[in-house]
Amino acid sequence: MTEETNNKNKFYSFVEANHASYAICDQTKCSTCEGTGKLRSQEAMNFYSVKKCHCQNFRNRLSTLTNAEIPGRFHDCDFENYHPKHDSQELAKKKSINLSKNILSAKKGLIFIGNPGLGKTHLAISLLKSCVLNHDISGIFLDFSNLLSSIRDGFSKNRSERDVFDKILNYRLIVIDELGKGRQDTNWEWGRSVLDDLISQIYNAGNIIPIFTTNYLLDREKEDFFLGPRIGLRSFSRVQEMCDLVSLNGLDDRQKNIPNRSKYMMV
Ligand SMILES: [Zn+2]
Repeated sequence: MTEETNNKNKFYSFVEANHASYAICDQTKCSTCEGTGKLRSQEAMNFYSVKKCHCQNFRNRLSTLTNAEIPGRFHDCDFENYHPKHDSQELAKKKSINLSKNILSAKKGLIFIGNPGLGKTHLAISLLKSCVLNHDISGIFLDFSNLLSSIRDGFSKNRSERDVFDKILNYRLIVIDELGKGRQDTNWEWGRSVLDDLISQIYNAGNIIPIFTTNYLLDREKEDFFLGPRIGLRSFSRVQEMCDLVSLNGLDDRQKNIPNRSKYMMV
């Protein structure tokens, strides 16, 4: 039994306030402490010391995972329930598992590129989950539009953008989903400059592993789908320096059951 499967039998997930929550199964009774979480040992006559049992580490990891702000709809995503239907998806899964196994010595993150519905977010979350549960890494899933809202809210409370960033930059692994998404409205330039600042901070920190997903492309072949101008050329260059590319091709899994819909395949 792999560590992954072994862990999976010990906890369950549910959705609370739109985010994924994780808790230990009640029936998982630790044989060392018999479920009390404490170990008592006799040090001398009438003198006992109490230590935390190792099973509490797993409880702490579940709480780290709950604090990772994984969106509710992805609460049960993991590598085991990602079923590739295309060679590129198989390879993407392998690369993700490989990074999760070697996260403690990793120097680079990943950028998942491909059309919607190919499981980019599923893989990014599975990776985050595996790193937290198996390696006790702290991680966060960033919804960029929520991040902009909290920065905006912070302004009215005299909190700066830097205050919001400081919290984020304490994480060892940061998932930024749908990089480059957004309408080019009046807030566009401001949003792009916040993203540029954040990517700079991640880049300068040097010990943060970033994971990005995007529907845009890294080459200029299709100008409208080119990621560069969406995030600014400086960020674009840094993202490529910090991440290995994982490209997904195939059919949109969410649209497969809709009849008579023409399917666009990215090549
Ligand atoms: Zn125990």
